[in-house]
Amino acid sequence: MSSDTQKTFFIETFGCQMNFHDSEKVAGSLVSQGYRQVQSVEDADLIFYNTCSIRDKAEQKVFHRLTDFKRLQKQGKQFAVIGCVAQQEGERIFERAPHVSLVAGSASYNRLPEMLVQIAHGQRATGLDDRQTEDTFETDFTARVNPHRGYITIIEGCDKFCAYCVVPYTRGRERSRTSESVLEEARKIVESGLTEVQLLGQNVNSYQDPLGKHTFASLLAEVGRVPGIRRVRFTTSHPRHFTREIVQAIDEVPTLCDHVHLPVQSGSSRVLAAMNREYTREQYLERIAWMKSARRSIAITTDIIVGFPGETEAEFEETLSLMDEVGFDGIFSFKYSPRPNTPALTMENAIPEEEKTRRLAVLNDRQKEIQRASYQRFVGQVLETMVEGARRPLGQLPGRTSQNKPLNFTLPEGAPEPPVGSYVPVRVTRAHPNSLVGEMCPVSTACVVS
Ligand code: SF4
Repeated sequence: MSSDTQKTFFIETFGCQMNFHDSEKVAGSLVSQGYRQVQSVEDADLIFYNTCSIRDKAEQKVFHRLTDFKRLQKQGKQFAVIGCVAQQEGERIFERAPHVSLVAGSASYNRLPEMLVQIAHGQRATGLDDRQTEDTFETDFTARVNPHRGYITIIEGCDKFCAYCVVPYTRGRERSRTSESVLEEARKIVESGLTEVQLLGQNVNSYQDPLGKHTFASLLAEVGRVPGIRRVRFTTSHPRHFTREIVQAIDEVPTLCDHVHLPVQSGSSRVLAAMNREYTREQYLERIAWMKSARRSIAITTDIIVGFPGETEAEFEETLSLMDEVGFDGIFSFKYSPRPNTPALTMENAIPEEEKTRRLAVLNDRQKEIQRASYQRFVGQVLETMVEGARRPLGQLPGRTSQNKPLNFTLPEGAPEPPVGSYVPVRVTRAHPNSLVGEMCPVSTACVVS
């Protein structure tokens, strides 16, 4: 409990990058209301729990945590559940956890100040959107956590309704920020001393500029031209909206990172149709071909779901063969997880859990072999590396390439430790399936970045 009169708050966040950035903005909104952020529940008057409902058992985890928190209620603490489980479960949270005072989904964060006033007067407060909100959540102040990367949400919500996904029901309809407000935030991020920006959206490339000035590709290029910006990343793209113009922008604007995350989910056109992904295997591979014919070498990563209802062994094999054909630099792989309110929940031919587990293991082993081979190509190259942290006990410094690969490196004898957030040339000496190892080039030698 805070000793002084200023109220304190603590935020615990789960889930995707969007959720973590939402928490940075929620914190900004609370600080603007006079609250002070603390780093432990013990020190907080108000405890926020930013939830994720993308996978099974997400709700159970939330209620377990709320039961844990109950013991703190005696100390007069208040609890707020926000994010996707809040939107999904709504007022049911008050029934199951009566000690909770505030329940709000991400489409209602603009109303946080008034909800804080309500709970300060001992009332309950809710912010539950039914996909009507057109507003985007923008704050004057954002309590940024990442020491070297600034996140900018350019579009919120989703209108795609993939058959397995809760996001359209928990984050509301698609709504984009104006290009002017995005560029203004990019300039502010540079003024704050950061040089890397990541544009965020459930479907970042579905961006529609309300001012009609920019497409996603031209906005991306414009952010890349903001003075002081060294690297621009963006996630998550939808293949349906992935255009040649995006690849062209990456080729023309050097600050745009040569990495694209393009979730495919399955290699079978029949499964993709059942998932309501609205592209075929062939259309996906066409987008890959655009990237592979770019002047710059673009790293490609993806998301894949195994065990979607009705997925046959042959269709699973189509996913494996697509991985062989593309040679992804990395994948995020998941077993299909039944989610409330989604069409796939009632689909027939559910795949048994152990079979899903077997397919996931086969897929991850295949990808490990693909990555083991592809990462070898970097050995001997000199890569511009952003320093992401201080020297570790074993002497290496954590770094990251523009292709989003972890590159941990040692320093030449007697070389000063480069500051976090700076860029150094590193010669790659070894490759692991998921990361690279190297040595920073001595300042005296003319190390040319590959
Ligand atoms: S595009 Fe599909 S998977 Fe992605 S957030 Fe929207 S509904 Fe979910």
